Amino acid sequence: MSKLEIRDLQVTVGGTQILNGITLTINSGEVHAVMGPNGAGKSTLSAAIMGKPGYEVVGGSVKLDGQDVLAMPTWQRAVAGLHLVMQYPTEVPGVKLSEVLSEALVARHATLPNLNKTINEEAARISFDSELVNRAVNVDFSGGEKKRNETLQLAVLKPKIAILDELDSGLDIDALRDCAKRVEDATNETGMGALVITHYSRLFEELKPDFVHILAKGRIVKSGGPELADELERDGYAAYAVTAE
Ligand code: ADP
Ligand code: MG
Repeated sequence: MSKLEIRDLQVTVGGTQILNGITLTINSGEVHAVMGPNGAGKSTLSAAIMGKPGYEVVGGSVKLDGQDVLAMPTWQRAVAGLHLVMQYPTEVPGVKLSEVLSEALVARHATLPNLNKTINEEAARISFDSELVNRAVNVDFSGGEKKRNETLQLAVLKPKIAILDELDSGLDIDALRDCAKRVEDATNETGMGALVITHYSRLFEELKPDFVHILAKGRIVKSGGPELADELERDGYAAYAVTAE
């Protein structure tokens, strides 16, 4: 069992306070959805958890199984078991996916007897063209291909806790279904916990949230079960005194 504990997290960007005290605990196998309008601070939350430069934590704590995540460089957070699927995956010219994954496994002191076989099996599982696996990471990929590629990395590396920042942005309905299903499977098969950031509840057709939290203006203003996502789908964010852009 693993546990990611976020306590009263306060974050500034460029001197402006964006997160005003976020408290959230994610256990193995749990799916926590964080929903909110544009500019609420959703990406800031994911960036602060992973230690992206420019996001300054001015208060609170983040612990993974009791270890102080905020004291670690980003690579060590990944080795410790955190994995971010980015809203806008980065293109990495000249570097193949197998090279990225093989280095990531070395950093984890882990070995996979046949990495290329695993990559091909996982690619097939999410209908990701195995031809693309041999090209430079994300370079000239479509939105859907990029998210499939990111999901494949998650499937191979088997993090303890995954953070998905708008997995559903920029991809078509087939890619969304394949990626969301694979993440849901990981929560059941390896007990991965997930922090799922999204605008829209359509992601939840395949990836079932156990808890839904509404983030507005840098605060969690309401938490509940999956029914909260249905309510948002129906009524929007207006009830939370914020406007979606
Ligand atoms: P969301 O992901 O919920 O749409 P973000 O976390 O991206 O929201 O942004 C929250 C607020 O922080 C916005 O007002 C945004 O303009 C600001 N912000 C985020 N990142 C930066 C940055 N790197 N520089 C300046 N402002 C930023
Ligand atoms: Mg965002």
